[in-house]
Amino acid sequence: MFFIFGIGPKTKVIQKSQFVCPVCRSRSAYELKQQRNYFSLFFIPLIPLSKAKGEFVTCLNCGMTMPSTVLNHAQSN
Ligand SMILES: [Zn+2]
Repeated sequence: MFFIFGIGPKTKVIQKSQFVCPVCRSRSAYELKQQRNYFSLFFIPLIPLSKAKGEFVTCLNCGMTMPSTVLNHAQSN
């Protein structure tokens, strides 16, 4: 009986909305993602090993990934 296990990051989309992208400077859809390391068995992530490493935003227009703090800037005006 083999056990295949490992530790790896898993990315989860926690929010989808729109923002004004600071890179391509147009109103586009974004995905807010969160990354965590998981202990996985048979390639199924089972146990979260750490607190969320942080959130980041991917602009679906230009594909650029940036820190989630850009959302605070975008919403403050
Ligand atoms: Zn963009």
